[in-house]
Amino acid sequence: MPQPTWLTENARNVWRPYTQMKTAAPALPAVRTEGAHIHLADGRVLLDGVASWWTAAHGYNHPHILAAMRAQLDTMPHVMFGGFAHEQAYRLAGRLARLLPGDLDHAFFAESGSVSVEIAMKMAVQYWLNRGERGRTRFLSFRGGYHGDTLTTMSVCDPDEGMHAHFSGVVPPQHVVDLPRDDAGEGSLDAYLAQHSGKIAAILVEPLVQGAGGMIFHPPETLRRLRRLADKHGVLLIFDEIFTGFGRTGSLFAMQQADVLPDIVTLSKALTGGAAPLSAAVARTHVFDAFWSDDPQHALMHGPTYMAHALGCAAANASLDLIEAGAWREDVPRISAGLEAGLAPCRALGGVADVRVLGAIGVVELKQAPDISALIARFVSEGVWIKPFGRIVYLTPALIAGDDDIARLTGAIVRVLKEAAP
Ligand SMILES: *Cc1c(COP(=O)(O)O)cnc(C)c1O
Repeated sequence: MPQPTWLTENARNVWRPYTQMKTAAPALPAVRTEGAHIHLADGRVLLDGVASWWTAAHGYNHPHILAAMRAQLDTMPHVMFGGFAHEQAYRLAGRLARLLPGDLDHAFFAESGSVSVEIAMKMAVQYWLNRGERGRTRFLSFRGGYHGDTLTTMSVCDPDEGMHAHFSGVVPPQHVVDLPRDDAGEGSLDAYLAQHSGKIAAILVEPLVQGAGGMIFHPPETLRRLRRLADKHGVLLIFDEIFTGFGRTGSLFAMQQADVLPDIVTLSKALTGGAAPLSAAVARTHVFDAFWSDDPQHALMHGPTYMAHALGCAAANASLDLIEAGAWREDVPRISAGLEAGLAPCRALGGVADVRVLGAIGVVELKQAPDISALIARFVSEGVWIKPFGRIVYLTPALIAGDDDIARLTGAIVRVLKEAAP
């Protein structure tokens, strides 16, 4: 099939993500999205198994989200947040405060997940400074974790998966340790913190699922262990729910399965249902209050140009309408059962190390790293969009995906892995 000229003529002008531009196959020209489907320029239609990097939770072009965005577009696509307030952001902050458990009530809006993690980290550092404690400039995070691609968020990612080697000397050194999965793990982390906690501003973790670092699950008890240790050693705890938030793991937020509160939570990805970029770092009241002062120096020192983008906030409010309507509460267990049944045959394959499912996340972990571009091309020939990384082949479909969609996606994985990892 001939490629569209807008693609061939400008291909070298566009820098693609995580891509060796010289050797990579051309990107697929997408021209339209609808529901769980992506339409290509040549007329092929792919069933999306990953919901555009986990964002399009309600499917693409959801009429309720598009209508809210159109109305906002006609009145005020955006206005600077430095000095102005707008209804969409204020309503969204109030709704997030009511939806999030406990006193996670104070939202700082940004435009990407990485930036919201940067903001959460700055909140933690300045929290201690405002309270007169100097020297808490480091973070403790976990192997297998992923928190973003900016230099400081890279520093708290898994050191191997996070490609730190390319950037040693630039990425600040942090404490990246093993997640405490049992009493022994909690004991070692306790001892580690006893030595280092005076220099640590916060512990950062993705609750229940470490996503882009390997789709690794941990039990809710691990989060209770972290809360206990953070309290004992007097450091803040940040939950990065950018992947897990808004129903993906079966509860509205993953933290609710452990019944613990972090001091700060970060949200993005499905926050707008995938229709616009938006993120938030939401703090509890004691964190917010550490900045509440007559001293201008105690203000949180951050302010992105597109902070609280009005169109993004309108999309998020519409997405929260759908979340509150609650179909996801039945959809996630239904999809979970479909993923479990559909992926089960992979367990019999020699090249498969593990098959695991949590909520609407289905993971097949291979023993060896496959040829990723060959796998993707095979999936495309099956009419599905599945984007493996490392040794991980996974599904995070839109929560509106039907049982037949889930069967098609898992069926494609079983067929393709029978060839690639027999
Ligand atoms: C995707 C992701 C990020 C980074 O978000 P971007 O919008 O890509 O900057 C951070 N943390 C987690 C857990 C993520 O899944």
